[in-house]
Amino acid sequence: MDVAIVGGGFSGTISALELCQKGLSVALIEAGEIGSGGSGRNHGQCIPVFGYLDAETLPPAGFALLRDSGQIVFEQIADLGIECDAVQGGWLNAAHNAAGLERAKAAHAKYAALGKAGPFLGPDEVTGLSGAPGYLGGWVHKDGGHLNPLAYVRGLARAAQTAGVAVHTGTPMTGLCKDRSGRWIVETPEGEISARKVGLTTNAYGTAVVPARMRRSLVPLSSYAVVSAPLGAEQKDAVLPSGVTFSDTRRDPMFFRVDTSGRIVTGGLVELRRGRKSGPTVEQATHRLARRYPVLEGLQWEYHWTGQIGVSAKQRPAIFELDDGLWGLLGYCGRGVPTTAALGRAFAETLHDPKAGAALWPQDPPARIPLGSVIGAVVQNLRGPTNKARDRFNL
Ligand SMILES: Cc1cc2nc3c(=O)[nH]c(=O)nc-3n(C[C@H](O)[C@H](O)[C@H](O)COP(=O)(O)OP(=O)(O)OC[C@H]3O[C@@H](n4cnc5c(N)ncnc54)[C@H](O)[C@@H]3O)c2cc1C
Repeated sequence: MDVAIVGGGFSGTISALELCQKGLSVALIEAGEIGSGGSGRNHGQCIPVFGYLDAETLPPAGFALLRDSGQIVFEQIADLGIECDAVQGGWLNAAHNAAGLERAKAAHAKYAALGKAGPFLGPDEVTGLSGAPGYLGGWVHKDGGHLNPLAYVRGLARAAQTAGVAVHTGTPMTGLCKDRSGRWIVETPEGEISARKVGLTTNAYGTAVVPARMRRSLVPLSSYAVVSAPLGAEQKDAVLPSGVTFSDTRRDPMFFRVDTSGRIVTGGLVELRRGRKSGPTVEQATHRLARRYPVLEGLQWEYHWTGQIGVSAKQRPAIFELDDGLWGLLGYCGRGVPTTAALGRAFAETLHDPKAGAALWPQDPPARIPLGSVIGAVVQNLRGPTNKARDRFNL
């Protein structure tokens, strides 16, 4: 093989497909099923807004790739014919108070200048799009939207396989070493893969065999999702009638989408009570939603699950070389749907030709984070209450 990719999420499937399309022979191995990690567990919101979308620090082609990442997601879905309930209805960011309004206006100015947003919206326009009264204003990122993430990642894997990638699920990497000729040997219970280069895309799910340099570059945080029963006709008319995907500007944001079967999908960081057990989680979710949408009083919930997100020290994704021909990609900080569309391409380019890859994304090793799981546990338990207090006191 020319390249072995380890990890069958968005990052691994997108980069394997891209490498194959460049004419390389590629194997993709996944310890569990395609989408077992964050890619099959997320909320399916495509929000192409990034603090690190910065022309000063990104190369011009990488800036353009990240800027257009939302558009790339939906184009790729259409081009590959992936059936994943994709709706590019825009992302609505609604300001809940004066400080939130200032933040929303600043974000809007940035994305309007890039041609990604129309005029800033007044309270009535936000109500028209969201169905919710009481917001002070907001804006829509046109390239945003939502999708079924598990169907999306499975579709990507199918497309990669059809293109010629050898996809092996239920195949964990159990060892990694070099042979005498300098080729990488990826060991699995089924046998070995010999490859010129290896790309690690295990993000927050890396098992003990994944080099410590990868695993210790992330703070793992647990996030949860809850999904309601399908809404009735009256509820559907009242909640996000325009089909946007939604977040407000709270530090502890209310964010959700209504999928094509009429279910509300929402969630957040797992806290002491919220996210850990279904009872209190859905009670809080209903209460929060019903304050804005009285029609949702008594909403029934059918699914609840959790997953891991990986936060890097600089809070931006990193591509870096761990050893000669061994590369890692990680650190989406909970926003991987649009981001992997850009970074997956940049990673494939880097594995193909590191110089060409550097023109898309800087090859900076992320800072090491000692005791990442301890930091994660502290953040996990303090972040939610701190953010709620900041919201309460308008900080
Ligand atoms: C609950 C939740 C909600 C989220 N909501 C959103 C959202 O709405 N929008 C958004 O943009 N982002 C969201 N995210 C973030 C997004 O899901 C991730 O950023 C993204 O899925 C990362 O993709 P990935 O391919 O890099 O990693 P993953 O999808 O985590 O894939 C890593 C894979 O590596 C495999 N693996 C690990 N070790 C080995 C090994 N030794 N051998 C073989 N395979 C191995 C794992 O099994 C796993 O499948 C959410 C995340 C979570 C957990």
